[in-house]
Amino acid sequence: MTSSIQDKLKDIVALAKRRGFVYPCSEIYGGFANSYSFGPYGALLKKNIKDAWWRTFTQLRSDMVGLDGPILLHPKVWEASGHVAGFHDALVDCKSCKSRFRADHLIENALHREVEGLPLSEVTAIIHDNKIPCPKCKAVDWTDARQFNLMFHTPLKKTKNGEEEEIAYLRPETAQAIFIDFKNIIDTMRKRVPFGVAQMGKAFRNEITPGNFIFRVIEFEQMEIEYFIPPTGWESHFEQWLATMKEWCRLIGLKEEKLKLYEHPQDKLSHYSKRTVDILYEFPFGWSELYGLAYRTDFDLKQHAEHSKTKILYTDPETQEKYVPHVIEPTFGVERTFLALLCQSYEEQTLGEGDVRTVLHLPPTLAPIKVAVFPLMRKDGLAEIADAIFKALSPHFQAEYDEGGAIGKRYRRQDEIGTPFCVTIDYQTKEDGTVTLRHRDSMKQERVHKDELLTVIKNLMQTG
Ligand code: ATP
Repeated sequence: MTSSIQDKLKDIVALAKRRGFVYPCSEIYGGFANSYSFGPYGALLKKNIKDAWWRTFTQLRSDMVGLDGPILLHPKVWEASGHVAGFHDALVDCKSCKSRFRADHLIENALHREVEGLPLSEVTAIIHDNKIPCPKCKAVDWTDARQFNLMFHTPLKKTKNGEEEEIAYLRPETAQAIFIDFKNIIDTMRKRVPFGVAQMGKAFRNEITPGNFIFRVIEFEQMEIEYFIPPTGWESHFEQWLATMKEWCRLIGLKEEKLKLYEHPQDKLSHYSKRTVDILYEFPFGWSELYGLAYRTDFDLKQHAEHSKTKILYTDPETQEKYVPHVIEPTFGVERTFLALLCQSYEEQTLGEGDVRTVLHLPPTLAPIKVAVFPLMRKDGLAEIADAIFKALSPHFQAEYDEGGAIGKRYRRQDEIGTPFCVTIDYQTKEDGTVTLRHRDSMKQERVHKDELLTVIKNLMQTG
């Protein structure tokens, strides 16, 4: 057991590995930096987050539709969006140990000073003048800062002599697929402005990271919304979306005191934005961006209209006014949601006499396994009854059957993966048909008739 705040991340990383949530990528080959694999329980947790998001923002709203665009788009998309010219980080290399760092992170950590937007020459001068040491080897021997595009690319075609003729970029955000299909969506979906398009999927960024587990990775999933509005009145839509995003945080169980807002200063906004607010979460390594909300104006649709030479206009059915819609963009990272949920729900409970229970208090709807079914013993027909109960529950909930080891250990294993309910079949079950239903958070146990289990758990899932 560890207690300091910094150690909490270590404990979470260890639990994530030990219990099949997150594995280091390509571990048998010595690892692959800034990339992770989601194990069986991690894959379920991720799926539950995405299902909840999709349900909240498409199924339950008549003003939203979904889209599933490709990862590889026409290369011109990224010229129009500004990513080819401007999606850069300033990097420096330590000449002594050859490690590479983001210049802004280096300065921020050493001097607690923000340098976003400063010219490269000034960034270089700050590092040199302040003799900032290399965080790895402590040498003060830096290259000049230089720009490094964050987009990965892949050759599409090669010339006869093998040179790359055309390249495609792996999308660094999902948003652009929505903008380039805006025309198709209004032509086919009978939606009136204001309306939104939601999309989730992989995005890729060649990031240099300080190693905060899955917080910043090179391959991640975004859940993004482009909400199209008339050219005036964006302020109230912005406020509404901020409230809606906070409501989503509440829905997935993130505590209010762990969340705060960060308003981007006007002179530091991205090229496309007139206002950006980040929702920060207090991770064990400090307050960091969980989600973002931006007013992207009509920048993207106009850029794509110009670069593709296509008219992208919306006609108001009542006034017949034609205009380029403006956009509010709420964006959510799946991995950061996943990490915030693990941080929020992880607890080491001291139960007395050196007994420590590790438990994940995940909201039941997001927990990877909802109910675990155990026969007390394999023998005397208990395993057969347990198997029948597992078969009755598993069409309704993600359930797990486990017949190995002491019952206490089986409970603790389920506590560690956040399973809200465990069901034990014992000798009394053979006599009166009742089983033990054990609750994760209170560890309370009650007898429930096996024929009523499904209804009881369904009700508990709704209220819990
Ligand atoms: P940061 O400032 O932390 O680099 P960003 O402002 O570049 O993030 P956005 O471009 O707004 O991030 O991306 C939208 C969301 O995607 C973020 O709020 C975050 O949840 C997620 N995200 C962005 N980059 C990464 C990454 N490298 N790894 C995991 N999630 C990411």
